[in-house]
Amino acid sequence: MTDHPLRNTPSLDAFWMPFTANRQFKAAPRLLVAAQGMHYTADDGRSVLDGTAGLWCVNAGHGRRGIAAAVERQLATLDFAPTFQMGHPVAFAFAERLAEIAPGGPEAGLDRVFFTNSGSESVDTALKIALAYQRAIGQGTRTRLIGRERGYHGVGFGGISVGGIVSNRRVFPQLPGADHLRHTHDPARNRFVKGQPEHGAELADDLERLVQLHGAETIAACIVEPVAGSTGVLIPPKGYLERLRDICTRHGILLIFDEVISGFGRLGAPFATDFFGVVPDLVTAAKGLTNGTVPMGAVFASRTVHDALMRGPDGIELFHGYTYSGHPIACAAGIATLDIYREEGLLTRAADLSDDWAAAMHDLRGRKRVTDIRTLGLVAGIELESRPDAPGQRAYDVFVDCFARGLLTRVTGDIIALSPPLIVERGQIAEMAAVLGDAIDRAA
Ligand code: PMP
Repeated sequence: MTDHPLRNTPSLDAFWMPFTANRQFKAAPRLLVAAQGMHYTADDGRSVLDGTAGLWCVNAGHGRRGIAAAVERQLATLDFAPTFQMGHPVAFAFAERLAEIAPGGPEAGLDRVFFTNSGSESVDTALKIALAYQRAIGQGTRTRLIGRERGYHGVGFGGISVGGIVSNRRVFPQLPGADHLRHTHDPARNRFVKGQPEHGAELADDLERLVQLHGAETIAACIVEPVAGSTGVLIPPKGYLERLRDICTRHGILLIFDEVISGFGRLGAPFATDFFGVVPDLVTAAKGLTNGTVPMGAVFASRTVHDALMRGPDGIELFHGYTYSGHPIACAAGIATLDIYREEGLLTRAADLSDDWAAAMHDLRGRKRVTDIRTLGLVAGIELESRPDAPGQRAYDVFVDCFARGLLTRVTGDIIALSPPLIVERGQIAEMAAVLGDAIDRAA
């Protein structure tokens, strides 16, 4: 595309873009060339307010000097070192720092950290740890993995098997034995709710039904996002997660929280585990782990799970890992990120802003064709009436319009999702609501 109108833009042909309608995008590209604080700069020089923290990951805002300096220092000191039968101090230091803020606090004991490079890898790692744990404690018949409809757990074969996104599953084979709970979105009973919906805790009993159907002795683990993000901000009803925890405990099923989005302050506590006060056995993380700067993921495992594997025969306890597990550059970025979170109180800042956030977002109620608004912490899902002839088109139009007017949003089906960096100011929240409201009016 050498005739592309944007100067200094390379040809768009070679990059096969992920999760993108490539032909549509390349006909009318949206390119970001710089970022600082709460704003991106588009390639035509326009400033674009970041309503989505990139892809739910830039929690401390863009262009953080502390992270850049740490990465540069680390690159110059130790650019790479293996972590297979070798080690380097930065990975141990980062794991220790993470253990200090591990989900659920010290009592939860979720302070053994396995490093990966992405959310998808964290999910597949957590599922494999669960299977290995069950085997290690003599429960090797437990091979079934339970997920949830409308769950998003990345794109590995494990993740798409427990995930509940049809287009993610249609083309590819699934792990045998995966099964699913129903999702918790019930617009008939819960609409325009600020925070957790009142109705639907009993949906957790789906797990009890699957236990009756398959036998507890076949089920290794159940994985859910505490708040489903990518499928449109589905917030768990009051009591739901507690009930799921209880059923898992009674039947020897490990509970995994996928906190790739909810981790690192999104809800107003360090993790959703802390926010809801429900403690799983494994927690996945990524994204905010390095403020989105260097690809990295992590799995927090409980001491119970970890120690069971460490009690096995001498040798490799978990036959799993990545060349880049605990990559020094990622770890350096991660430590610098945690420093910023701590110094600026970002892991709890969403709690201070969440009332204003909810008020601004729920003010969009009453705009034409807005059928639901859901908010928690610094997340919002604004659902629009689906166009029968073109499902998803209306929200997509809103997304494109917002971008043209200087606001980055995220679209998923007929839902607009917002999740700004945790450094967002109140004025910027108002600005987001105003731009979005206008775009919704135009799309109606
Ligand atoms: N789990 C959840 C809950 C996610 O939101 C995502 C990404 N949006 C993933 C897993 C996958 O992460 P990644 O894209 O880094 O592989």
